[in-house]
Amino acid sequence: MIIVLKPKTKKEDIDSLIEKIKAKDLKPVAFEGEERTVIHVLGDTKEEVGNGWSSIRCVEKVMRILKPYKLASKEHHSHKTVIRVGGVTIGGSDFVVIAGPCSVENEKQIMESAKLMKANGIKIMRASAFKPRTSPYSFQGLGIEGLKLLKKVREETGILVETEIMDVRDVGITAEHVDVLRVGARNMQNFDLLKEVGKIDKPVILKRGIAATIKEFLMAAEYILMNGNKNVILCERGIRTFETAYRNTLDLGAVAVLQKETHLPIIVDPSHAAGRRDLIILLCKASAAVGADGLLIEVHPNPEESLSDGAQSLYPEQLTTLLKELKPVCAAVGRKL
Ligand code: PEP
Ligand code: MN
Repeated sequence: MIIVLKPKTKKEDIDSLIEKIKAKDLKPVAFEGEERTVIHVLGDTKEEVGNGWSSIRCVEKVMRILKPYKLASKEHHSHKTVIRVGGVTIGGSDFVVIAGPCSVENEKQIMESAKLMKANGIKIMRASAFKPRTSPYSFQGLGIEGLKLLKKVREETGILVETEIMDVRDVGITAEHVDVLRVGARNMQNFDLLKEVGKIDKPVILKRGIAATIKEFLMAAEYILMNGNKNVILCERGIRTFETAYRNTLDLGAVAVLQKETHLPIIVDPSHAAGRRDLIILLCKASAAVGADGLLIEVHPNPEESLSDGAQSLYPEQLTTLLKELKPVCAAVGRKL
């Protein structure tokens, strides 16, 4: 249920309404808009809508949200959420490209990567310190050491950094070292992890699970939102289908549906969808055309030597080509690259 307050409602009236909601064992989440405050009431509110709330003096109207995802839904928040990190805005008119290597491998590799990203105008670099690998014998990431390298690169080059979080125990230290956290596809329904990243104030990229429906994806985002973190960026990264020509099937239809269902920014990761670099530029252009707010892509200074996902990582010169070819596509859909 949503309670929309009248414009210019006094703080004491808002506080007293919040207390009334809590007294009914319901959870109030207040959103202060430019003009008015909206209070989202979470919990079992089926019987509450016609229960006298609308006759309280400061209340303009009371509405029921029918979608199972409440805070993520457009019914709750009709205008798009714009997330600010450093000087970058995600979900606004800019098209944001987050790029970098799959993993942090060593200081030389990550410093070279950051310089390469900066030379191409990329403002946020991706690189994982904790790696979810199919085989336990594959490179597992540098862990905390990798986080320290990301922080160092950030301090020395000024690039913002983004990395994956896999374990609830690492949320605090990861949030101290990087600008944006990412919950990977394999952890989309790790509910304890979702709750924990819901308690921090840094943006979180939530990737769609490899076999998750759009509804399950939005319900996962709801876990983060309802714990207080409103800075959630959804990421379509391909789902598992019968097709074997590529690693996963990039579901751009989901990007179209999500724009209708949610106010949250939506980015696309074509690298983990395709699994092969020759498709990346085309899929990036298609993502921009369908209305995505940005991309998450893998680029490596030397893909042949990459310790993970080399086959799908772009060569440095391909990043330059990609950005050049993306520009007119973004312009055609009213976005600035
Ligand atoms: C990644 O982005 O590094 C990654 C592991 O992707 P996904 O979780 O989508 O498989
Ligand atoms: Mn990867």
